Amino acid sequence: MSFKDLGLSDALVKAVEEKGYTVPTSIQQKAIPVILEGKDILASAQTGTGKTAGFTLPILQYLSETKHPKYRPLRVLVLTPTRELAAQVHENVREYSKYVNVKSAVVFGGVKAASQIKTLKQGVDILVATPGRLLDLHDQKAVSFNRIDVLILDEADRMLDMGFARDLNKLISFMPAKRQNLMFSATFSNDIKKLAAGILRNPVSVET
Ligand code: AMP
Repeated sequence: MSFKDLGLSDALVKAVEEKGYTVPTSIQQKAIPVILEGKDILASAQTGTGKTAGFTLPILQYLSETKHPKYRPLRVLVLTPTRELAAQVHENVREYSKYVNVKSAVVFGGVKAASQIKTLKQGVDILVATPGRLLDLHDQKAVSFNRIDVLILDEADRMLDMGFARDLNKLISFMPAKRQNLMFSATFSNDIKKLAAGILRNPVSVET
C-alpha cells in the first residue's frame, strides 16, 4: 500500500516522499480514503501514529482541486487544544502543501493579535487555531466562518479537559450546518461521546 494507492495526487505524494515517508501508517491507510469520500470520521488515535498527515493530506487534496478566486474564503478549520500542537500541525500543513496552491495560517493566544488579523484579512484556505483566540478574532470580525465546509477537532479529549467545551460549541454555532467533520481523540469518555454525537453525522469509526 502506497500513498498513491490511497488516491492522493502526485503533488502531495512528492511532498511526503521528500519527508522520507514511504508507507502510509495504519491510521493513514484507514482514514485517508474515507476523508477523500467526504465522510465524517471519529478516529481513535494517539500522538505518534501519523494522524496529522492522516487528516491533512486528504484535506489538502480537496482544497487544491478547486480554482481560486482572488479572495479565498476560509474553508477548512483545524482546532487544537494548545499553541504547541497548533504550531506543529501548521508546520505539517506547510510541508505537505509545498507543491499545491493552498494558503494556510495558524492563530493562537499569548501573542499579539495584530499580525494574525492581517494574515486572516488576506484570505486563507485552511486555518489551524486554538479555540479561545479564534473566538476573540471572530468577535472582532477578523475572520468569517460562513464558508467553512470542513471542521477538524484534533485531540478533542484534551480540548474538553482544558475547559474548551463552551468555546467549541460557540464557534460551531457560527458555521454552516452542512460540513464534513473529522474528530480525533486518544480517549473516549462520556463527555467526548456526547460532543461527538452533537457534531458528527453518520461518522465512520477509525482505529489505529
Ligand atoms: P503525528 O502522530 O501526526 O504527530 O506524527 C508522528 C510522526 O510520524 C511525525 O514526526 C511525522 O512526521 C511522522 N510520520 C507521519 N506519517 C508517516 C509515515 N507514513 N511514515 C513515516 N513517518 C511518518
